[in-house]
Amino acid sequence: MQFHPTCLYSPASKDELGRRFLLSEALRGEGGVLVRKDGTRLMEGVHPLKDLAPRDIVARAIDAELKRTGDECAYLDMRARPREFLEKRFPNICRHCRTIGVDPAAEPIPVVPATHFFCGGVQTDEGGATGLPGLYAIGECAHTGLHGANRLASNSLLEGAVFAERAFRRLSADASLSSVTLPAADPWKPAKSAPGQEAVFIRQDWDEVRRLVWNFVGIVRTDRRLSSAMERIRIIRREVMEVYRGYPVTRDLLELRNVTLLAELLIASAAARKESRGLHYNLDHPQPLEGEKKDTVLRRYG
Ligand SMILES: Cc1cc2nc3c(=O)[nH]c(=O)nc-3n(C[C@H](O)[C@H](O)[C@H](O)COP(=O)(O)OP(=O)(O)OC[C@H]3O[C@@H](n4cnc5c(N)ncnc54)[C@H](O)[C@@H]3O)c2cc1C
Repeated sequence: MQFHPTCLYSPASKDELGRRFLLSEALRGEGGVLVRKDGTRLMEGVHPLKDLAPRDIVARAIDAELKRTGDECAYLDMRARPREFLEKRFPNICRHCRTIGVDPAAEPIPVVPATHFFCGGVQTDEGGATGLPGLYAIGECAHTGLHGANRLASNSLLEGAVFAERAFRRLSADASLSSVTLPAADPWKPAKSAPGQEAVFIRQDWDEVRRLVWNFVGIVRTDRRLSSAMERIRIIRREVMEVYRGYPVTRDLLELRNVTLLAELLIASAAARKESRGLHYNLDHPQPLEGEKKDTVLRRYG
């Protein structure tokens, strides 16, 4: 999971899905600097490129600072640039900041790192085909092998548009698809209880998964946090599957089932890598290992 270093922070600045507004890295490219509450430079002494260091290093530096001080956010100071420049170059960002009462030309913008891009995914070949006949995956859900240890910004056009066309060409030419037979599925047994009766489980489990993954499988990991996360996620997943099998299916329940499985895969993948590289950082194994310059592939998981 790649983290973006600078998302707009305010206790109330999340949308209905809990997402934060992203503040482009172009802000730092245009002279913005990260500062602490007292105005001192945060990236000083962290990396030779300071505020222009790679995004995983900047995200980690902010995270470490917030954990050390207990502060809720860091700040992005754009005051080196005049108001006219900021309004012209970043109109949308300026508008968004004002909605939470922050004037970027007059005061530092509160920021926190947040999850940004899921670098792992369903393994595909260069035409989007997966290991299951007839199943293709493209875009953020796919693992094409295009990323190195860290995702480069603006890769989505490549992942989405280029692979969409490749998959289309492959599918058009794939005569074997018409002969794919899917195994018969068991008939669905409708649950007896009323829809919505178990909504309380869904809310509780969703909240728990979100916290667990953020705290234990987030920007900085340790072996202990990962093994503890694995124990807990398996308990939650058992509970979710019981609700899934015993109650009417809702969109929220399906999403929770999928999110819980993905969380488990994420933890298994992180735990399998005994080194730090790119966006994966484990305090117990802080250095890259010779010979580990390869993707983590979970085969026949579970
Ligand atoms: C704040 C933010 C800023 C970003 N900025 C950039 C950027 O500047 N440059 C860049 O390259 N990338 C950027 N990204 C990443 C980029 O937006 C995504 O990687 C890209 O949009 C993924 O496209 P996708 O089609 O694979 O998936 P999505 O855009 O997530 O599309 C998946 C679609 O499937 C639908 N869906 C899900 N489940 C089901 C289901 N069961 N049945 C039917 N439909 C379903 C969803 O509703 C959704 O419409 C950014 C991401 C974020 C969050």
